[in-house]
Amino acid sequence: MTEQIHNPMNEPRYCGIPTFMRTPLATDLSNLDIALVGVPYDGAVEARSGARQGPRQIRDMSSMIRAIHHVSRINPYELCRIADVGDVRFTKIFDIEASHADITGFYGKLHKAGIVPLSAGGDHSITLPILRAIAADRPVGLVHIDAHTDCCDEEMNSKYSHGTPFRRAVEEGILDPKRTIQIGIRGAANSADCWEFGPKHGIRIVYIEEFTKLGVDKVIAEARSLVGEGPTYISFDIDSIDPAYAPGTGTPEVGGLTTLEAQGLIRGLSGLNLVGADVVEVSPPFDSSGNTALIGATIMYEILCILAKKISSNPK
Ligand code: MN
Ligand code: MN
Repeated sequence: MTEQIHNPMNEPRYCGIPTFMRTPLATDLSNLDIALVGVPYDGAVEARSGARQGPRQIRDMSSMIRAIHHVSRINPYELCRIADVGDVRFTKIFDIEASHADITGFYGKLHKAGIVPLSAGGDHSITLPILRAIAADRPVGLVHIDAHTDCCDEEMNSKYSHGTPFRRAVEEGILDPKRTIQIGIRGAANSADCWEFGPKHGIRIVYIEEFTKLGVDKVIAEARSLVGEGPTYISFDIDSIDPAYAPGTGTPEVGGLTTLEAQGLIRGLSGLNLVGADVVEVSPPFDSSGNTALIGATIMYEILCILAKKISSNPK
């Protein structure tokens, strides 16, 4: 294999076939700890589509990311076996529920192989079918960073949209609402139901105003104590970040996180019992500079570092 002959980090960044973080492209699941996965699907978006093109653009911009984290000094590639396993393949792309079933099938194989997935969307509807695969045997906790709760009951008379995944996940018993925290929530809604469903079931919502008052460290402390030692998933919607930094997304909301606050939040989740993560809603058609995709790639790398550290510390 070529990756044993040369180190891709030493190659010019514009060379070769782009994979997430310049990792090898793998089809064999027998020898991996962490899989980087693309989910190029945005069929559950009501307004500005384009996140289907997220994985390809994030892969390209992720060639900018080097190996060693400047704060933690973690080199994830020394700690774990990490590869890009390609994209979920869709068999009926115009059918939301069939597409979600394709996603669940793909992640079911990873889960069975004991591989932790770190994914790039796609719209936020993809998190529900991912959780159906990796939380099939027990509910998971969730650190959800987003401008929106994504706890609507319906959107355009559909139960499955990018505004509904976490409500469905609670209803299906795959998400533990008492071990769920949503951070960065803001923006007007046409019904207050999307903000009221969660707290009724035990979800903790940290609106952006409270986040600003508390600061990153206090929110981290609360998130850590809330999810505890149980299995925990991280779902990062790029629209949590202020559109001044990340305009390339379908549902931008002003008054958001800075990139540094978002990076600090992820670093603060180190050591949790992480079972997977995703970065969603990067939409290249609205990302004229490519910076939103670069932020998406950087957040994936931040998550990759804490995932690799945790997985490498688990007893074999
Ligand atoms: Mn979302
Ligand atoms: Mn959102």
